[in-house]
Amino acid sequence: MSVAVALFTRDLRVHDNPALTAAARAADQVVPLFVVDEALVPDRCPPNRAHFLAAALAELDTALRDRGGALVVRRGSVIDEVARVVDETGATSVHLADDVSYYSGKRERALRERLGGAVHCHAGSVTATSTELAPSTGRDHFAVFTPYFRRWIEVHRRSPLPVPRALSVPSVGSDPVPTGSDLSSGEPSPELTVGGETTARALLDDWLDGPIDHYARDNDDLGADATSRLSAHLHFGCLSPTEVVRRVDATTEGGLAFARQLAWRDFHHQVLAARPDAAWSDYRRRAPLGPADDRVFADWRDGRTGYPIVDAAMRQLRAEGWLPGRARLIAASFLTKSLRQDWRLGARHFLHWLVDADVANNQLNWQWAAGTGTDTRPNRVLNPVRQADRYDPDGTYVRRWLPELAHLPGARIHRPWRENVDPATYPEPIIDCVGR
Ligand SMILES: Cc1cc2nc3c(=O)[nH]c(=O)nc-3n(C[C@H](O)[C@H](O)[C@H](O)COP(=O)(O)OP(=O)(O)OC[C@H]3O[C@@H](n4cnc5c(N)ncnc54)[C@H](O)[C@@H]3O)c2cc1C
Repeated sequence: MSVAVALFTRDLRVHDNPALTAAARAADQVVPLFVVDEALVPDRCPPNRAHFLAAALAELDTALRDRGGALVVRRGSVIDEVARVVDETGATSVHLADDVSYYSGKRERALRERLGGAVHCHAGSVTATSTELAPSTGRDHFAVFTPYFRRWIEVHRRSPLPVPRALSVPSVGSDPVPTGSDLSSGEPSPELTVGGETTARALLDDWLDGPIDHYARDNDDLGADATSRLSAHLHFGCLSPTEVVRRVDATTEGGLAFARQLAWRDFHHQVLAARPDAAWSDYRRRAPLGPADDRVFADWRDGRTGYPIVDAAMRQLRAEGWLPGRARLIAASFLTKSLRQDWRLGARHFLHWLVDADVANNQLNWQWAAGTGTDTRPNRVLNPVRQADRYDPDGTYVRRWLPELAHLPGARIHRPWRENVDPATYPEPIIDCVGR
């Protein structure tokens, strides 16, 4: 009996999974393997992602069992454990999804060094690879989104792959599927969403069945909560991005607006693939920052800036481990442009809390907001009060997260300094952004 290993990384699904399909086609038996990287758990793994990951692994195990298989879990160094499983089962090939981060590149190189030509990487984490979508200028990546999107929308995408009908797994030792607490020592956000392919597919079906139609109109309306909330499922690969794009009808207004956001995901991935240093270094040089100020950073982090729209965002981040895009932008712009603090501080804080935290999307969106990234208007500053008036006109969003201001009617909630609110109840603004 021939054996192949399907190494799951950020592709925790059985639908449209190129690595799993390739392993099933390459051999009679497949080891569906997940390695819990001991270098990261439990102390270096943020709790929100740990709990989402654990739930996604449990759903993956169930989906594999439904097809006659089961998830094989090992704990240790990824390279050592893959090599051990290859030795124990006599596997002749190892299949995994491609990725763009520095860590994943290092992992792939180390696997190839250890196992040589047996290692096969399959495109699957973005919907258009840099090879399919290279700029005509000869550069190694697109640095501006609009021309990228014009080409992206035209790319021919393969049909989603079918789920392997039956899987046979050789006899090989496995640890139990880890729980969230096995993976992280910290407490997750109280309103954290649940991870996993079955959950994600139901969410996607519901989304495509109606709410997407209003996406173009409502996606920035903070009170309406009208975005898909698919980001963590895309991050962990509970959904295939290619399948999502294929299922979106981009001839409709809502579908096109939604596809455009999915293109941003691919765009940032191709920037990071070409410039891995952009994870922590400025993509473009920028005017000097203000002096580092621990106190204003702490006020921003803890939602005590005195600007309700910013503070509401920072509270939602902690409560849910997730934020709508507009709220992320307002919070990031406030820290970097209004308070003139280093984007890396904010990016690190988001990486800790966001359940969808992603090196490509988080770091490059932070750079975009800070003016060091791919924004073609790097000096624009988002005024938090104008943003609040525009994207939370009746104050619904702020009222949801700042109950201490809930008595202020309509848009008056965005200017508590005009309302005689006791500073012991809600702080005065830490800087003047509006020329009060
Ligand atoms: C400062 C900052 C940090 C961010 N950090 C992350 C992060 O760590 N992980 C992450 O997935 N997204 C990040 N984003 C992008 C975006 O805000 C989230 O993807 C989105 O809010 C997730 O909610 P949703 O799934 O409802 O999105 P929807 O509005 O429904 O969009 C659909 C999908 O498109 C993709 N997408 C949407 N906007 C962007 C964008 N600007 N860049 C890249 N992809 C996008 C996401 O995969 C998202 O799930 C960040 C944005 C900012 C401004």
